[in-house]
Amino acid sequence: MQGPILILAEHLRGDIASLTFEMLGIGRKLADDMKVPLHSVIFGKDVAPLASQLGVSDSVFVLNHPQLDMPSSEVVAALLKTLFEQKNVSLVLIGGTNVSTGIGPKLSFRLNLPFVNFCRNIRVKDGLVSFTSQLFGGKILSDVRLQENRGVVSVYPGSFPIDAGKSDRKPSIEMLDLPLEETKVIFKKYLEPEAGDIDITKQDVLVSVGRGIANADNIALVNELADALGGALCASRPVIDQGWLPLSRQVGKSGMTVKPKLYLSLGVSGAPEHVEGMKDSGLIVAINTDPNAPIFGISHYGICADLFDIVPTLIEEIKTHKSE
Ligand SMILES: Cc1cc2nc3c(=O)[nH]c(=O)nc-3n(C[C@H](O)[C@H](O)[C@H](O)COP(=O)(O)OP(=O)(O)OC[C@H]3O[C@@H](n4cnc5c(N)ncnc54)[C@H](O)[C@@H]3O)c2cc1C
Repeated sequence: MQGPILILAEHLRGDIASLTFEMLGIGRKLADDMKVPLHSVIFGKDVAPLASQLGVSDSVFVLNHPQLDMPSSEVVAALLKTLFEQKNVSLVLIGGTNVSTGIGPKLSFRLNLPFVNFCRNIRVKDGLVSFTSQLFGGKILSDVRLQENRGVVSVYPGSFPIDAGKSDRKPSIEMLDLPLEETKVIFKKYLEPEAGDIDITKQDVLVSVGRGIANADNIALVNELADALGGALCASRPVIDQGWLPLSRQVGKSGMTVKPKLYLSLGVSGAPEHVEGMKDSGLIVAINTDPNAPIFGISHYGICADLFDIVPTLIEEIKTHKSE
């Protein structure tokens, strides 16, 4: 790799995303190993004050523009292409999130350079960088290399430590003045998620239900268990798809990522799309009738049993224990 590494700083509504710090941490290591500079760039409306948080990079490029409040992926990809060429960049790291997801492929196409999607690990050996890309929702991990280490990489959230990307150091800041590409995609307004429901990402105790719950009538039973434990209910996708719990309770790839102190899983098989949303929970306890259910592979404690045999006893025991 001859040229610098460039990180697109992701931010939403005034806050730098934690994934940005993940990218800065791994980007710093990579840049040091490859002996190249680490740059970051932040685009947005009034984003200059956020630049000081990106001190892990050697320099930060800032482009403030009213039209960059929630810009379209085309506009950002065009700006990144210009910067890539102006600064002789070799590698661009972009967040693999709902906010940034469309940017990487468009930039890769415009630069005519390869795109590594769902990147979960980056290593350097003998001057060669290899990237581990997650395929088929985590069923396959593929190690890939880029010719001359040049390309665009979409970093999967939660893959790297956050702390390595934080520093009190003051980076050198360069204000950019680049023209914005015309776009037909205009940001109209930010829709708040449905109000009134609890935020499962903020709970210490979660009781998670899967298809093993069998029908909507049984939700009351597991809700009683969640109440007894002082926690909340969440669920796998089939339970949400059936309408037995609101979308705000879904854990996994297309739902929320949770890290409670206790994750009690009932009748959930442990498909990769579910596991990626809860694997970092403090203590995982799973109840499943199938001894080969993948959820047991990531659980600290597993109970191979019918949840309907265990849950009523558990509620009774917790209530007795509390009244003592
Ligand atoms: C692009 C994509 C995104 C996805 N996103 C998500 C996501 O965000 N979240 C998510 O959860 N899934 C997601 N999925 C779906 C995922 O692949 C699985 O289909 C889903 O997680 C399975 O849910 P489940 O474990 O509840 O059901 P199943 O896989 O049907 O498992 C039910 C489990 O319950 C057990 N069981 C049955 N009866 C009992 C009983 N009485 N007591 C105890 N155990 C019992 C069974 O042994 C089985 O292991 C996604 C899939 C795709 C393709």
